[in-house]
Amino acid sequence: MTNQGECPKCGKRVLHVNIENIVGMIGGEANGRCLSYCCIHCNAVLGVQVDPRSKRRTRRKATTPKEQ
Ligand SMILES: [Zn+2]
Repeated sequence: MTNQGECPKCGKRVLHVNIENIVGMIGGEANGRCLSYCCIHCNAVLGVQVDPRSKRRTRRKATTPKEQ
């Protein structure tokens, strides 16, 4: 298997990516964890996705009836 993908910024082949945890924002509010994939050579962001491992945290602890 030959990897053909190359970074659009520095032109090097993408054999590794730096994966960073970032926060998705909707309408100016934090709305869950996301992941960004960055070129290890120049740190250009190659892609972003919602973190599939993340569970949405509900902040409304006061209104959950079961927590008592
Ligand atoms: Zn690059």
